[in-house]
Amino acid sequence: MATPQHVEIDRSLRSSGIALAPDIPICQTDLPLDWYQEQFKPYAEEYMALPDRKPATVLPWMDRYIEPALDHFGDRIMLLAHYYMGGEIVKLVERYGGHVADSYQLALQTQLHPEKKVFVESAVHFMAEAIALLAAPDQEVWITNPKSGCTMEMMAKEFMIAPAFDRLQERYGDDLMVVAYMNTSGRVKALAGRTGGSVCTSSNAAAIMRWAIAQGRRIFFVPDQHLGYNVAAQVGIDPERIALLGAGHAGAEIEDDRWKALDRAQLILWGSFCGVHTIFKPRHVDHWRERGYSVVVHPESPRDVVEIADGSGSTSFLWNHVMDARPGARFAVGTEGHFVRNLREQAGQRGIEVVHLAEVPDEADGGCGCATMSRNDPPHLVAMLDLLRRGTPPDLNRVLPGDVVDEVTGARERLDLAGQRRVAADARRSLERMIAITESAAD
Ligand code: SF4
Repeated sequence: MATPQHVEIDRSLRSSGIALAPDIPICQTDLPLDWYQEQFKPYAEEYMALPDRKPATVLPWMDRYIEPALDHFGDRIMLLAHYYMGGEIVKLVERYGGHVADSYQLALQTQLHPEKKVFVESAVHFMAEAIALLAAPDQEVWITNPKSGCTMEMMAKEFMIAPAFDRLQERYGDDLMVVAYMNTSGRVKALAGRTGGSVCTSSNAAAIMRWAIAQGRRIFFVPDQHLGYNVAAQVGIDPERIALLGAGHAGAEIEDDRWKALDRAQLILWGSFCGVHTIFKPRHVDHWRERGYSVVVHPESPRDVVEIADGSGSTSFLWNHVMDARPGARFAVGTEGHFVRNLREQAGQRGIEVVHLAEVPDEADGGCGCATMSRNDPPHLVAMLDLLRRGTPPDLNRVLPGDVVDEVTGARERLDLAGQRRVAADARRSLERMIAITESAAD
C-alpha cells in the first residue's frame, strides 16, 4: 500500500489561473426561472433571452451590470467563490477581480482585509456565514443565492445536534468537547465554542484533533463521519474507541447498547456525510492505479478509499499537489466534479493528465458535482451586485451570525441583535482557536 501524503496548510489565495475559452459555454444548464428570487427574476429573464452562452455574448451583458457596481464600491468590495463552483463562476469571479479559495481561506478574508467592507460570496451558506462570524461590525457579507446549502450541513442543523448533545452532556458533563467541521452553521460552531472546542477544516483537521486529544476530554465531532474516521486513523485513535451517533438520534432516546459504545469512546462521530464524496469505492482506486495513475482523494471520502489512496487532503492540497506535479504525471482525483473538471483543464495545459476517480466504465455515478453550490450562476452574481449598487439588495441575501436558512425557499430565521452577538462571540472562540492552532502548526 502506498504511504498517503496528508494535510498541508495553505493560507494563500492562489489564482485558479483558469482562462475563459472563447468557444466554451459559460454555463451548460440554465436554472428554471422560478428558482430565482423575485428581485433576481428580471436579470434571469434577460440572461435567458441571450442567444447563446458563449463568453462573447454573456460577458458584455455581465459587464453592463458588474462594472458599474465595481466602480461604485471601488476597493471596498471583495468577490469570493469556492473551488467547487462550476468552472464558469470560478472564472467569472476571478475575471471581475475576485478570489477562489477553500473554506478555511474564505473564512479568513474579513480579518485579512479590514479595508474591504462588502463581501459577496458565490458558494454555499455555511461558508458565507463563517466569513460573517469573523467580520467586523462595518463589514457586510452577502450570498448570491441563499438556497445554496451544503447537504452535509443540512443533516446537522443545531436543532438536530443539540438534543443529542444535551444527552451526552448529562452523562459526561464537562468531559465533553465539541469539535465542529467548517461545514456547520454558526450556531453549531458556537456550541463548539461554548464547550471549549474548536472548528476544523479538512486542511487542519489532524492538527485540531491532536490538540483536542491533548486536552484529555471526550470529543464529539460533527458533522462528517468520514472525515472523523479518516482523521482518527491519521492521529492514531483506536477504532474501538470511536462511536457513531447517527442523525437518527436527533430527537430519539439513545439505546443501552449504544451507551456502552459511547462510554468507551474517545471520539463520538455525528453520522452526516457528503453525497458527492461517498460515491468513491476501493475498486475505483484499483482501476486507475492499474493504469498508472496516482490517486488522491478528499478526506470526506470513505475510510476504505482514503486508506488505499496515494494521498489525501483538502481542496487546496489537491489543487496544489496536482498543479505542482511534473509534466507527464497522471492523477485520478476523488472529489467534487466541477473542481476536477477545472483542475483537468488547468493541469492539461501543463501536460498533466487528470481524471475523475469515479469515471470508470460501467459506473453510473462518474464525476458528480455539488448541485447545491452550483445554484450560483451568472444571473445571481449580476443581480446581487447590481442590487447592492442600487442600494436595494434583498435581506434574504444578507448573511448574519446565527441565521437558520431554509434551503428550499431561501428564507432565513434571524436572531435579534443580542442573539447574533452571542452566537458570533461563541463561534468566534472556536474559529479563533482553530486559527491559532493552525497557524502555530504551520510555523
Ligand atoms: S461538496 Fe458536499 S460537503 Fe462540500 S458543500 Fe457540497 S454537499 Fe457540502
